[in-house]
Amino acid sequence: MLNLQIPHATTLSALRARVRSWREDRMTIGFVPTMGALHEGHLALVRLAKAHCDKVVTSIFVNPEQFSPQEDLDTYPRTFIEDAQKLSAEKCDLIYAPETHEVYPDGFATRIQMGGPAEGLESVDRPHFFGGVATVVAKLLNQVRPDVAVFGEKDYQQLLVVRQLARDLDLGVDIIGGEIVREPDGLAMSSRNVYLSDEERGRAAELNVILAGLASEVSAGTPIEEAVSSARRAAQTTFDAVDYIAVRCARTLAPIDSATLDRPARVLGAVRLGVTRLIDNRAASAPRI
Ligand code: AMP
Repeated sequence: MLNLQIPHATTLSALRARVRSWREDRMTIGFVPTMGALHEGHLALVRLAKAHCDKVVTSIFVNPEQFSPQEDLDTYPRTFIEDAQKLSAEKCDLIYAPETHEVYPDGFATRIQMGGPAEGLESVDRPHFFGGVATVVAKLLNQVRPDVAVFGEKDYQQLLVVRQLARDLDLGVDIIGGEIVREPDGLAMSSRNVYLSDEERGRAAELNVILAGLASEVSAGTPIEEAVSSARRAAQTTFDAVDYIAVRCARTLAPIDSATLDRPARVLGAVRLGVTRLIDNRAASAPRI
């Protein structure tokens, strides 16, 4: 048994016992699901959950179902002791760090298939991804049964997918989005940024610059197709590959063009630098006329 400064459950029964005692005391519960390797972006979500609820549970679970065989499941950074120290400093009330069989027991045979906001963008290059995310999020939400769950806008498509899932399955939980936390040079914080070499790290911040430029071009009235093409060209010169650069409806992620830019829009991008895949996004508004 690890001697941590913070309560820590590894089984569903231990989690449920803790949650039950809070419920008996009429406490509200917030939940922050993570894959660990925690940084300021995750900790900001814990603070947001604390601002909404009496007690906060943070899960640390590297979900095998959302990795394809050629992705980085084995090498994904695992820093449990440091994570526990950071969560303790934030006064998180419980870490839930289940073993894989606690989430996917022998014989587990369910996988949620999502449409709507799950279509396109991330799903083009990672067709397995949102099925795995939706399945684990539904499972964890049922295990914790929180009042509020907090997800980062860093994974904007995922946030919309989770909102859709909660609505469609009547999960009875409020899904709250937390703003993207960035490094001083604008790079969105990510557990995977540790994969970047020094040279790649220098180029990585350019994604935010390109998306910020695209958002302001769109807001200034440059035709969307023209603005996206020039942002894509800029990304192609900086990065090793460009998976997508897009402007979408901020609420549904449906494609949007200059004629339909009468609603809040979101610019989104995914690029590759060596073995690392970076994603980022930001808001864009309709042009003022
Ligand atoms: P992960 O551990 O990468 O699965 O992320 C867990 C949660 O943290 C997700 O809801 C992410 O969107 C969120 N998150 C990751 N990075 C950031 C960031 N830089 N700013 C805000 N939220 C983030």
